[in-house]
Amino acid sequence: MTILPDFRYIRPANVDEAVAALAGKPGAAIIAGATDLLPNLRRGLGEPSVLIDVSAVPALALVEETADGLRIGAGVKLAELALHPVVQRDFPVIVEGALAVAGPTHRAAATVGGNLCQDTRCHFYNQSEWWRSGNEYCLKYEGDRCHVAPKTARCFATYRGDLAPALMVLGAEAEVAGPKGRRKLPLAELFQDDGAAHLKLAADEVLVAVTVPNSAKGLVGSYAKIRIRDAIDFPLVGVAAALKRDGDKIGQIRVAITGSNPCPLPISTDGLEGQPWNEATARSLADRLNKTAKFQTTTTVGMRYRRRVLLASARRLVDDLWEKAV
Ligand code: FAD
Ligand code: SF4
Repeated sequence: MTILPDFRYIRPANVDEAVAALAGKPGAAIIAGATDLLPNLRRGLGEPSVLIDVSAVPALALVEETADGLRIGAGVKLAELALHPVVQRDFPVIVEGALAVAGPTHRAAATVGGNLCQDTRCHFYNQSEWWRSGNEYCLKYEGDRCHVAPKTARCFATYRGDLAPALMVLGAEAEVAGPKGRRKLPLAELFQDDGAAHLKLAADEVLVAVTVPNSAKGLVGSYAKIRIRDAIDFPLVGVAAALKRDGDKIGQIRVAITGSNPCPLPISTDGLEGQPWNEATARSLADRLNKTAKFQTTTTVGMRYRRRVLLASARRLVDDLWEKAV
């Protein structure tokens, strides 16, 4: 086990202090529940000069009903999120996403912001220092070659967060604070398709909250996660879906995936609305999933298997939602 690197520790009392603490410190990192960052640091993955612990910022820990929708602070613990009465009543897909993360002790510490911003994963990266040194490291950290796709000059490490797809299908918006103030963006736009830099947050920005719009209340949603052990384990693949029926036709449908690419991704559902949910529509959705999901050998489980379970899980999920949404 690598000894933790030396770092300064700052515990801001509010968001402005957190943003000010980040300013001018390119080596600084936010820390929340620490369940993702700390295991990485103990493996020698990263050497932040400053850790900015946002766990004492009360404003980040709130779940509030606002005019725009349900605003969930980035510091809300996953265990609290899953128990929140409004979340349980209006957005059970969020409860399912939150409860799918790791185990109860993790969820008691892990936060919404940390879950969304967690690092990407690869079996050549999430290893001890001596293991990685034996492979001469890799492109994502300290090396110059990708062992998964050696002919490319990019990293395919996979995003494995459970909460992002559940929030995406509800049309959630992210709220980010930086030196120039606050900005809001669709949650999907917080991410980009690069395993070595999958967040579009600037180095001096903090994720403050996500807001689920009121319009999502009419959607029936669910999250399916496939993992090796049905206990503490990251998703091999995960798929969330939300839909509204308009009689025998699809009124609205949204699908998002995790565990396949370097970031969680919404699936295009253009043209599915207004169609009945039948074999042809299901095939069309499967084609879109196939096109979007770009599996790589970033885990020990084969790409073909992951693709097959993605398609099967998505079909089962939408079949069930279609019945439920009547
Ligand atoms: P932290 O570790 O504190 O932070 C994670 C990252 O997010 C860091 O890079 C940090 O800088 C950044 N960050 C945190 N808050 C903010 C913010 N407000 N603004 C900007 N950046 C921020 N995750 C899953 O999704 N599913 C799983 O099944 C799962 N299983 C796990 C099993 C084990 C054994 C372990 C060790 C981890 C597992 N995780 C899993 C990963 C992790 O525990 C969760 O993702 C957790 O929700 C991370 O939240 P945290 O608050 O602990 O994040
Ligand atoms: Fe390293 Fe390649 Fe894996 Fe990225 S995908 S972590 S560069 S081996």
